[in-house]
Amino acid sequence: MRGSTVGSAPDRVSTGAPATTAGAPAPEIPSDDRQGPAASTFDTAPIVGIDEALRLDAATDDAGTARAAQARAHEAAAEVLADRGDWRRAYQHLRAAMALVHLGDTPPVHVPEQLRREVDRLRRERAEAREQSRRDSLTATWNRRYLDERLSTLRDGNDGAVCVALVDVDHFKLVNDTYGHAIGDAVLRTLVGLMRAELDGRVPDGFCARYGGEEFALVLPRPADADAVALCESIRARIEHHDWSAIAPELRVTASLGLACLDPDDTGGTCDGLLDHVDELLYVAKRTGRNAVAFRDDTGQVRLAGPAAGRRGIAAIARAVGHQARSGRALP
Ligand code: GH3
Ligand code: MG
Ligand code: MG
Repeated sequence: MRGSTVGSAPDRVSTGAPATTAGAPAPEIPSDDRQGPAASTFDTAPIVGIDEALRLDAATDDAGTARAAQARAHEAAAEVLADRGDWRRAYQHLRAAMALVHLGDTPPVHVPEQLRREVDRLRRERAEAREQSRRDSLTATWNRRYLDERLSTLRDGNDGAVCVALVDVDHFKLVNDTYGHAIGDAVLRTLVGLMRAELDGRVPDGFCARYGGEEFALVLPRPADADAVALCESIRARIEHHDWSAIAPELRVTASLGLACLDPDDTGGTCDGLLDHVDELLYVAKRTGRNAVAFRDDTGQVRLAGPAAGRRGIAAIARAVGHQARSGRALP
């Protein structure tokens, strides 16, 4: 028996018939990332009779009847394939059947229990693979890919301010040089645990993502500005006061943070622009002595939170850093 292809519209299947069957719009089959786009084709061979079933349906005048027959043909194909253990193709046929059923007055598809279990398993695997591709392998926190995705949708979501902080471990190279890379890795994992513990209790919809190396982004949707500063200061203090000697004797770790927020009224603001701004503030925190949170107050003045607030020369350093950033020279 010859093979045929089934596109995103199962009723276009194998016949060369038009994209609609008996006036019905072509159903969308949801995409499967591991399979490529939804419009992927799949082989009906060697399932005896399916091509004929689908071709007959295309000629039927009654759209509901045509779809029901097509759904049954896909369902039958799914069962045959499932019996053979060909779960991937069974799944594709079942999805095609489901897509047809979702169009409206088509009788429900009967899903054999074994097939349902396998489809559930495939769905779970797909969700897990998607999640894994957005996790950092060292710390298990979110990665840059996830951060970029979330930042773009947070802005589109248009539901209030979003604050972003960048957290950079101070003198981390020295930690590696003194204690070794494995200890450095343990520091990064512990650091993530500390940040998440603080976030979970105070900003449940906030998250932490590894920005690169020993730098992490904290995203805080919809906080009041003052809360964001207080939260970042708590995180900084928690890192400073953590008992790091459990990882290595006499180990001490601090971090510097830059924090900025996009106002909901600031319609021209972008998350890329926000990250540049945060980076600049992080550099101010570094240049003023590290182990501090830098942010701008309501008047636009750069300030440091907590005990670092009284450090000297903050304004002059902020001006110099701002000048350097505007002149296009990279902040080291
Ligand atoms: P600063 O206070 O200015 O941030 O100094 P720093 O030493 O933290 O910054 P620098 O950029 O000089 O060094 C960062 C170091 O982070 C160098 C790199 O080897 C280390 N690093 C980056 N990623 C990892 C990692 O996954 N594991 C370990 N152990 N080290 C890492
Ligand atoms: Mg760094
Ligand atoms: Mg660093």
